Amino acid sequence: MGNYNLAVIKGDGIGPEIVTEAMKVLEKIGTMFGHTFAFTECLAGGAAIDATGQCLPEETIAACKGADAVILGAVGGPKWDNVPGNQRPERALLGLRDQLGLFSNLRPAIIHQALSAASPIKAEIIGDSLDILIVRELTGGIYFGDRGYREGKYGTEAYDTESYSETEIRRIGKTAYEAAMARKKHLVSVDKANVLESSRLWRKIITELAADYPEVTVEHMYVYNAAMQLVRNPKQVVVIVTSNMFGDIFADEASQITGSIGMLPSASLGEGAFGMYEPIHGSAPDIAGQNKANPIATILSMAMMLRYTFGLEAEASCIEQAVTNVLNAGFRTADIASEGETALGTKEMGEKIREKMVK
Ligand code: NAD
Repeated sequence: MGNYNLAVIKGDGIGPEIVTEAMKVLEKIGTMFGHTFAFTECLAGGAAIDATGQCLPEETIAACKGADAVILGAVGGPKWDNVPGNQRPERALLGLRDQLGLFSNLRPAIIHQALSAASPIKAEIIGDSLDILIVRELTGGIYFGDRGYREGKYGTEAYDTESYSETEIRRIGKTAYEAAMARKKHLVSVDKANVLESSRLWRKIITELAADYPEVTVEHMYVYNAAMQLVRNPKQVVVIVTSNMFGDIFADEASQITGSIGMLPSASLGEGAFGMYEPIHGSAPDIAGQNKANPIATILSMAMMLRYTFGLEAEASCIEQAVTNVLNAGFRTADIASEGETALGTKEMGEKIREKMVK
């Protein structure tokens, strides 16, 4: 029995709707397994800009640092599209990762058997199921590098810089090798070492780390080849480790293979057990406030939190099994419904999952 303090950033768009369902799932876990979850709600993104003028207020950073883990919905939306670049709602995400030292992002892309028809990939390629883990570096690379405007040969130019230190590569590499050990002991490291100096260092460090994990076979793939293999033969890429920008793109490619972006959870982790848990999708302004969003990605993110931060395997499995059972029973939200299938709303899907939770 544990007492867990969680900072909750519901965010913008569909954020409040999906996070509310996820919080109710945790409350049910608390009742079933005898834990208490205390929620401290705080602001980030567009909602924070409206309330405080800043996308990531100091109080939010303090609340997150004081919590055992952070739950995040999504931030951003058209309302804030004209806010200057360094104050856009999405900058709050980079700020949170940076301030909280969350350098690795784990994004499982799983196809549930019941949803295999939703995948745009042929059934014979997918087989019964697909379970890929993307380990993305989160606080380095081009998203954090030197940037700006300058006068160049052809007039004003904008630039962004990709750089990686040995330390940054080593720590994400360790996370990835550990993940590979827990899976099929095969790791695919994705880079662009034929062109980029930072990728050559990436490849060197990932290769060096292999000595500490003799059971893991490591394969290096250029990013264009990996993007192709992911749709041609996704079963061969069980665990992928890659840089911040490549990982960003890969995660969305993988999400499309699974059929819906509304299904995929993520964990952002640092050195210790602390983590931030969020769906991989954005704030979906087109369906916000309409009870149409799929809450499953956020609910599965809670399972990741219970497993990775709190070590509560039975509780994590309870949530994952409930989601599988709900899908097997034929319940769908609009984004995963086939033609002719009735779609549940966000609240109703949350309720169904809670009904199916058994010890
Ligand atoms: P998005 O992921 O919000 O939406 C893409 C499409 O997927 C939309 O059609 C949307 O309706 C659908 N979708 C997304 N999540 C869904 C869910 N749970 N259930 C059903 N359908 C879902 O991407 P976008 O439209 O490019 O971005 C919208 C805003 O979100 C932008 O401001 C963007 O910057 C922001 N964003 C935030 C995050 C984050 O907070 N982590 C991530 C990506 C994008």
